[in-house]
Amino acid sequence: QPRAPHEVIAMAEEQGVEMVDLRFCDLPGTMQHFSVPIRQLTEDSFEEGFGFDGSSIRGFKTINESDMILKPDPRSAYLDPFRKHRTLVLNCFIYDPVTGQPYDRDPRRVAAAAEEHLRASGIADTAYFGPEAEFFIFDDVRYHQDEHSASYVVDSIEGAWNTDRNEQGSNLGGKIPFKRGYFPVPPMDKFQDLRSEMVLTMQALGIEIEVQHHEVATAGQAEIDMRYDTLLAMADKLMLYKYVVKSVAQQGGYTATFMPKPLFQDNGSGMHTHQSLWRDGEPLFYESGGYADLSELALHYIGGILAHAPSILAFAAPTTNSYKRLVPGYEAPVNLVFSQRNRSAACRIPMYSLSPKAKRVEFRCPDAMANPYLAFSAMLLAGLDGIRNKIEPAGPDDRDLFDLPPDEARALPTVPSSLEGSLAALEADHDYLLEGGVFSQDLIDTWIAYKRAEEVDAIRLRPHPYEFALYYDA
Ligand code: GLN
Ligand code: MG
Ligand code: MG
Ligand code: MG
Repeated sequence: QPRAPHEVIAMAEEQGVEMVDLRFCDLPGTMQHFSVPIRQLTEDSFEEGFGFDGSSIRGFKTINESDMILKPDPRSAYLDPFRKHRTLVLNCFIYDPVTGQPYDRDPRRVAAAAEEHLRASGIADTAYFGPEAEFFIFDDVRYHQDEHSASYVVDSIEGAWNTDRNEQGSNLGGKIPFKRGYFPVPPMDKFQDLRSEMVLTMQALGIEIEVQHHEVATAGQAEIDMRYDTLLAMADKLMLYKYVVKSVAQQGGYTATFMPKPLFQDNGSGMHTHQSLWRDGEPLFYESGGYADLSELALHYIGGILAHAPSILAFAAPTTNSYKRLVPGYEAPVNLVFSQRNRSAACRIPMYSLSPKAKRVEFRCPDAMANPYLAFSAMLLAGLDGIRNKIEPAGPDDRDLFDLPPDEARALPTVPSSLEGSLAALEADHDYLLEGGVFSQDLIDTWIAYKRAEEVDAIRLRPHPYEFALYYDA
């Protein structure tokens, strides 16, 4: 893997690269790109950068101050396996050409600053992240265009279950029964080959994969797990993971979606995020003897995550659809407690391995709609705040939390029930994110305003299809 500009240029020459694809992440969390011929990529260009117009990018600048530049990050280089012409991809940092400063709303800048802040804290030098991003593979999504707003209105999702398009559900043979996707062998699992194709593509790109499997939901739900990595590197890998999943699905004649709850009354797709802190190559979350062999530092980290969870979720479960997933009964967490066994708790301590190096906390609330640069940074900052302020976590609670009598359930802290709730929590609780200048006040204000206008209100103001079932003839 190249580290310096001249190594990237040598790699490009060696590989016969013709095009360079420059990528960056917009504020909501979708990768953006433009390309330059290989001759444009000189050693100087890494310092001088490549210009683009920031005014059309979601969450970025207004038109009167829109000139921005991208400076390629040499450590992010890889060859795009999906392009016809040999293409080198470089993820970039965004700069303001006038001030010469890094752009404070650049998600990759936030992630780099979070890592720097961790090192400066003296608490640890490394944070590892391991996201488990689940997704659905569908044949297609049918829609019509709303005549008043010109936006899409979905009519149906064609999934793996309903492969006979004209006789929906009539053929039970060879199909996965309701919520039994985890995990019968093929031919009931019809996506083994597609997932393997995704895994092999990821491995060729330098992403180490631990496992792939069908997930619980009926219609083609999948999971592929990457080996943990450091914060910025893992956020880059997650963006590449989504790119490979969607590209391989499309080559196979399918579409893939990371939207958290596409199907009513079936499991949703989460992005459980495993995390641990290390110093001088030693894991800091393990101490034998206590509950789940957790160190005091780990307990306080969990305390920080749980205490700030409603506000973290504005970044980690950042869509209106995210809160249709965070309900009881579908293996997604609702209660803000921790437990070593319990998949109904927000923080689970996996007990698959008793090794100190494997000791970690799994935060189960996030989903893959998160901008990972921002969401991982918010989790790390919440954990550090817990350590600094010795915040004791609620729990441990090893009861099945989906099955509690109502009065006991009410006594437990819960996740917000809507994106509006998480945004209000972020508005009230974000000092921990401003530490070390990792998040700027401007980024937080922009995020809240963007999400309220573009998503919360966009949904709130539209009549819902089910409202017609409820009210039309009332
Ligand atoms: N799909 C579940 C969720 O939404 C998780 C299922 C699992 O990995 N056990 O979080
Ligand atoms: Mg998993
Ligand atoms: Mg899973
Ligand atoms: Mg998990």
